[in-house]
Amino acid sequence: MNINENFLKIESSYLFSNIAKKVKAYTKANPDKEIIRLGIGDVTRPLAPACIEAMHKAVDEMADEKTFRGYPPEYGYDFLLNAINENDYKARGIELDNSEIFVSDGAKSDTGNIGDIFSLDNKVAICDPVYPVYVDTNVMSGRSGEKNAEGKWSNIYYMPCTAENNFLPLIPTQHVDIIYLCFPNNPTGMPIKKEELKKWVDYANREGAVILYDAAYEAFITEDDVPHSIYEIEGAKTCAIEFKSFSKTAGFTGVRCGYTVVPHDLKFGGTELNGMWARRQATKFNGVSYITQRAAEAVYSDEGKKQIQEILAYYRKNAKIIYNGLRDCGFTVYGAVDSPYVWLKTPDNMKSWDFFDLLLEKLQVVGTPGEGFGPAGEGYFRLTAFGTTENTEKAVARIKNYFAK
Ligand SMILES: *Cc1c(COP(=O)(O)O)cnc(C)c1O
Repeated sequence: MNINENFLKIESSYLFSNIAKKVKAYTKANPDKEIIRLGIGDVTRPLAPACIEAMHKAVDEMADEKTFRGYPPEYGYDFLLNAINENDYKARGIELDNSEIFVSDGAKSDTGNIGDIFSLDNKVAICDPVYPVYVDTNVMSGRSGEKNAEGKWSNIYYMPCTAENNFLPLIPTQHVDIIYLCFPNNPTGMPIKKEELKKWVDYANREGAVILYDAAYEAFITEDDVPHSIYEIEGAKTCAIEFKSFSKTAGFTGVRCGYTVVPHDLKFGGTELNGMWARRQATKFNGVSYITQRAAEAVYSDEGKKQIQEILAYYRKNAKIIYNGLRDCGFTVYGAVDSPYVWLKTPDNMKSWDFFDLLLEKLQVVGTPGEGFGPAGEGYFRLTAFGTTENTEKAVARIKNYFAK
């Protein structure tokens, strides 16, 4: 028996396990200190009442033999597919058939699993820094090559996104096959405008590449010229797969629901990727629970929409508190407009992990070192708006107090 040795190439601990370890050690040594966590991208507001009500009702249905449900349809119940299609697409002028939408347990699984339907010899382009799942899942499947001294994988085409290019990747100067884009971006918090995304769609169509578009933070968009879906861009249906999630939109990080769109027009060598993804999901995934899908449907009800906007406004306010507070004490800050993330340049070009240690040890504030999201994240740091406003204010006051000139 031989194991998949690609797994051995990945550092055993995921970024957030490393952080958790450091925080745990600090807490053990300093049990009296109050730690404020603005690190991991997890929400803290409870679910919208409309979702809770829908879940209670669904639970009651499961208790009655007349309304009990077993295995769900593999790709989602019609009631949820209809709600997604109407609200996230038709309302934005995008025509999709329900068979192009696949309901799932979230965008992490889907962005991780999508690699199953692509050959291992494809050239993969990934923004740097970015959500670590794209790189790690390509390493696991054997598509990444070997790691060099700079911490980069030999077969991955890195697209640095730094202040120098306004955190937007440059169109590759060579052919690539699979392009991961995530906008508004995690971790930089920066959006992509329609005219910029159009350049990627044109490149992909010209090169015969596929764009894997992760729009997990779409609900945070406030600017008009920032697309909520890549299908707002002409030509995207022949080159793009889109991933969306209820996690950051509606606080579903613990409930687990998202969806992926694979248009029928997306074909390579005459084969529809839609059919391949359908086969992949039906074989390895058994659908999302009825209770969860009813909760997701309620996100689109009139009440649900109103309640979710209130929760988003709460996080947006926190983002502004962090952004303005840090800017006012001399930090260079980015993001926060279309995103719950504030991305900051570390003072005096400090290494991201050194800055992490400083915030933890001197101020008891936990953030995320930029380097954990890729080599180009070095010298940057991420703070999230997902804490309580009270804690966010407290953390910003501590930072201001320490760094004020
Ligand atoms: C949080 C996050 C996800 C994960 O979404 P789930 O639906 O909770 O799995 C996906 N992509 C990005 C960029 C994220 O930050």
